[in-house]
Amino acid sequence: MTSGRGVDILVAGGGTAGWMAAAALARFAPPGSRLQLVESEAIGTVGVGEATIPQIHLFNGALGLDEAEFLRETKGSFKLGISFDGWLHEGHSYMHAFGDVGQGVGLLPFQHYWLRARKLGLAKPLVRYSLNELAARTMRMQRGRPHPAAREMPYAYHFDAGLYAAYLRRYAEARGVVRHEGQIAHVERQGETGDIAALVLDDGRRLAADFFIDCTGFRALLVGQALGTPFDDWSNWLPCDRAMAVPCEGGGDFTPFTRAIAREAGWQWRIPLQHRIGNGLVYSSAHLSDDEAASVLLANLDGKATADPRPIRFTTGKRRRHWAQNCLALGLAAGFMEPLESTSIHLVQSAISRLLAILPGGRGDPALADYFNAQADFEWARIRDFLVLHYWANQRHGQPFWDQVRNMDLPDTLAAKLDLWRAAGFIHREHEELFTPVGWFQVLAGQGVAAHGYNPVADALGEADLARLLHETETSLVDQARAMPRHLDFLRDYIGQS
Ligand code: FAD
Repeated sequence: MTSGRGVDILVAGGGTAGWMAAAALARFAPPGSRLQLVESEAIGTVGVGEATIPQIHLFNGALGLDEAEFLRETKGSFKLGISFDGWLHEGHSYMHAFGDVGQGVGLLPFQHYWLRARKLGLAKPLVRYSLNELAARTMRMQRGRPHPAAREMPYAYHFDAGLYAAYLRRYAEARGVVRHEGQIAHVERQGETGDIAALVLDDGRRLAADFFIDCTGFRALLVGQALGTPFDDWSNWLPCDRAMAVPCEGGGDFTPFTRAIAREAGWQWRIPLQHRIGNGLVYSSAHLSDDEAASVLLANLDGKATADPRPIRFTTGKRRRHWAQNCLALGLAAGFMEPLESTSIHLVQSAISRLLAILPGGRGDPALADYFNAQADFEWARIRDFLVLHYWANQRHGQPFWDQVRNMDLPDTLAAKLDLWRAAGFIHREHEELFTPVGWFQVLAGQGVAAHGYNPVADALGEADLARLLHETETSLVDQARAMPRHLDFLRDYIGQS
């Protein structure tokens, strides 16, 4: 099929990544396009992935999904941030909450005032200046602004990624995506260009297309196995290489936040959904066996496990080129970083929007691929740096895993960022970097990374005025949080269930 008559794209794999791609293409590909997806029920999906970041609104909004229906379909809940428990040391907790923290003055961001106030002994922990964290810690939730002076509360969701994929499948099929059930046995290449010509299934069916999207998960059948794109291994910075996942019955707090709880050789996630709590332990196999991991996990659940713990192996890193030949890798086929900041589904979504912006009419042009890959390199490396910061800045002395990560050599890009913070409390956000300075600030402060200076413009505010600014910000946010409904009540009311 040629340009001008729509696009001809085959998605390989029907996990969350595959169906997100298919749904977006169904919505935005030009008329006359041929859109297909092949997946294998026998092979199945990775079956984990439950926490997101607020950017998911852009994706769901672009598809025109109704939020209450989406939450019903995916058994979702609201998420205001991530609580990092024990990451600095046992008993300590801080939150990377979405949304603003504190209040800057003029052009100067809040962190400088907070650093100065801390020096003067006036500053309280960041939770007192974050509406999202105040609401989250008291299990409260609201959408939008109750009154014009109230602060905006950005939020994301916890949901069942398998149910999300099924929901998007219905969406995509209703809009013309043709689904093939079967196992890809062979990737047929064109002799001259080396492009992919077709996927041949184990029953002999041959599925041809102009362009292919590899969503085959960790197998990376197209971009990895067939095209041989190298994998850049980041285990030296992020040494966890296993996850043990298990759902359990609900019962404990219905938290509007994800918990990431540091354990001896990794960390545990806790994600409340409507029908269960998702739990998992991310760990380093050099420091903990699978059996030990299962025991740690099972000993730390809110309720009865509703399935056996399931180990998942992975290597942290990414394919060097996400777009190779006439094929784009998405999701786990493109690479993986542990779910510490809930970034995988976001990376799928952002790659899809980048693809749609430069949608190839035929087999694609190397200039498009180069552009795409440079953007992906930047995006992935900055997220990697953010994750590395959480590990490196720990004070869990005497635990071999944590001692190792505290002593690692940092990526240059992260080291440069830390130098700026230490020197002047300055946080530089490079263009299109995912995490905002407010996000970095919360993790830097939460992990106890000292800034030796702050912008002296903050000194222009007298001490009494600074104290008043902090106090007024705090009392206003505390009052706003107190007025909100409980998360569970709010959710039930919103999705129409008693
Ligand atoms: P998969 O779900 O593995 O899907 C692969 C698809 O390819 C399947 O449909 C399979 O049938 C098909 N396939 C494979 N081989 C063949 C073949 N030969 N023939 C036909 N079909 C084939 N992300 C988040 O955003 N938040 C989280 O909290 C989060 N937690 C995670 C925790 C863990 C431990 C892991 C491993 C991942 C987590 N993720 C999270 C990532 C998230 O789960 C994935 O990014 C997302 O589900 C996308 O997966 P996928 O579709 O790429 O792969």
